[in-house]
Amino acid sequence: MSRPAKAVINLNALQHNYQLAKALANRERTNGKVLAVVKADAYGHGAVACARALSGQADGFAVACIEEALELRSTGIQQTILLLEGFFETSELNEISRHKLDIVVQNSEQLAMLEQNPQPESVRVWLKMDSGMHRAGLLPQEFRAAWMRLDALPWVSNIVMMTHLACADEPDNGYTQHQLEVFEQHTLGLPGERSIANSAGLVDYPRARAEWNRPGLLLYGASPFEAAHSIEQQLQPVMALYSAIIGIKNIPAGSPVGYGSTWTSQRPTRQGVVAIGYADGYPRHVQNGTPVLVNGKRVPVIGRVSMDMLTIDLTDVPQARLGDSVVLWGKDLPAAEIARYASTIPYQLFCNLNRVPVEYA
Ligand code: PLP
Repeated sequence: MSRPAKAVINLNALQHNYQLAKALANRERTNGKVLAVVKADAYGHGAVACARALSGQADGFAVACIEEALELRSTGIQQTILLLEGFFETSELNEISRHKLDIVVQNSEQLAMLEQNPQPESVRVWLKMDSGMHRAGLLPQEFRAAWMRLDALPWVSNIVMMTHLACADEPDNGYTQHQLEVFEQHTLGLPGERSIANSAGLVDYPRARAEWNRPGLLLYGASPFEAAHSIEQQLQPVMALYSAIIGIKNIPAGSPVGYGSTWTSQRPTRQGVVAIGYADGYPRHVQNGTPVLVNGKRVPVIGRVSMDMLTIDLTDVPQARLGDSVVLWGKDLPAAEIARYASTIPYQLFCNLNRVPVEYA
């Protein structure tokens, strides 16, 4: 038997979640478009497979950098592909226009590079305003002048006005309303399409739903909200992480388990060993008691997660046998829940997936 750890990616679930995003984008309008954010190898789900699965329905895709975009173009993806960080040096511009990539312009250096390098083909630019996140983007008071400078360039075909929300994952956070107001005020009267919403903005902030929307996490079937949210009922998890029980033994009460002896059995315990560890992307920092599913039943992780293995308490599932499948996250065990046990976010769990073979279903 080969090592049983694997990730299974359900592309039907991805399509379902995309349709959900599209429906949200069109609640208040009829022309709401959805860019599927597939950067970082589609948050660990495989960018090429995910983009192909969505190519019949997606309005476009968003990636971080040109290498990610060219990978998609080379597999025949024809739709809009947006480079969320724009470009880093002028040498990228030729490739950008040749491959018809859309670029974000998020600082004055990029704006100057674009001005100084006339392009033979036209490019669509997404001009990003820092409406309050204070990461990337032009300050609101700089935005209108930057828009005018871009508009004057014959090789800029189109300008989409965009911003990014810092706190949309916290329902009713007043800061999101503040960002929306800043963005609306400083784009007032400028012609063209707009783009504001990430997953959380798309779900919870109708004002953030603009012509273009940019969900990532939602498409992979995980809730972007830290607290429980009704959207979870409508999402289908795309990734399931599996392994199997590779060892079972009975240990007496008072036995410490794992590195650092962080957990000690309080009763005679049927302990199981599962072939998955932090080298596979399962978080090392989960608390004792984090659930896994064995035959559909939740049982707790006990002791520290090691590089290739973790240990679970099988005392309450006496029917569990060597070789039984174990779900680390997936259907009935949301990655967002496991992330909370590890004091992290589902984004990081997905992106950290490593070493395990990936199957597509
Ligand atoms: N838009 C931008 C500019 C981003 O950086 C990201 C992700 O980091 C997204 C959209 C998608 O965010 P989410 O995965 O929360 O939907």
